[in-house]
Amino acid sequence: MLGLVLGGLLAWLGYRAQLLSSGGAVAVLVGMVIISLAAGWVWSLALLVTLASIGFWARFRQGFKRTINERFRERARLGWWQILARIGWPVMLALLYGLLTPERGVFAAYIGALAATAADGWGTELGVLSNQEPRLLISRIQVPAGTAGAISILGLVAGVAASWLIGFAGLLLTAVEAWLDQLAVAPALFWLPVAAMIGGMAGSLTDSLLGATAQGITYCEHCKERSEYRVHSCGRPTQPVRGWSWLTNDGINLVCSLVGAAVTAGAVTWLARFGGRW
Ligand SMILES: [Zn+2]
Repeated sequence: MLGLVLGGLLAWLGYRAQLLSSGGAVAVLVGMVIISLAAGWVWSLALLVTLASIGFWARFRQGFKRTINERFRERARLGWWQILARIGWPVMLALLYGLLTPERGVFAAYIGALAATAADGWGTELGVLSNQEPRLLISRIQVPAGTAGAISILGLVAGVAASWLIGFAGLLLTAVEAWLDQLAVAPALFWLPVAAMIGGMAGSLTDSLLGATAQGITYCEHCKERSEYRVHSCGRPTQPVRGWSWLTNDGINLVCSLVGAAVTAGAVTWLARFGGRW
């Protein structure tokens, strides 16, 4: 029931705010229901915080962002495959947790995947508002705001804040659940905010690195504009410029959430073992 209500609410708000296509809205609803059924309300609320916070920043100064580049244009509502790239791995982890191994490490990995997605989302939506021209990771070339793989100080700070927040939300929700069940919170989970920050930044920096190097970039002759898509937002086909054409922003988002999950789960274990007890 909770999954249906939260999922329905998110899907409806996202659709109304022109952030989701109808397919994207259905994907959010289905993902939320599966996660709630498989793993429970702590997991669904963590997903809610992640998606709602990204949606909030996506709406923030939306009119201005639409003048920057195609990613922010009116037609660029997220479709079901773009939602799948962001929450597909978290859904798998929820199924793994619910059906096979209800272990803390899987929960930490789930929070890490969400933290990476949040860091990437906040970093993109806030970084693009930076007054300074962002730079490509590694080559440090200055590029226009909104370029794939570009990073700015504002975007990095937003990413750190986002991933810490998701880790903290994970800890807080676990603490409430433990309190309701009159159980103690596992000491290792007190490291979750720090671990999620490390994992989230590892994921989102991997995202920027791949965006700056391997991602397929195209060019629209008509608009004289670089693009990330085979068909430009004006509706005309684009020409490849660099990178692997099969590696799109969606593929990179999936990698981002995989890296976030692995690094966060590892960091929780490592910090709990060597960082001392609380
Ligand atoms: Zn065009």
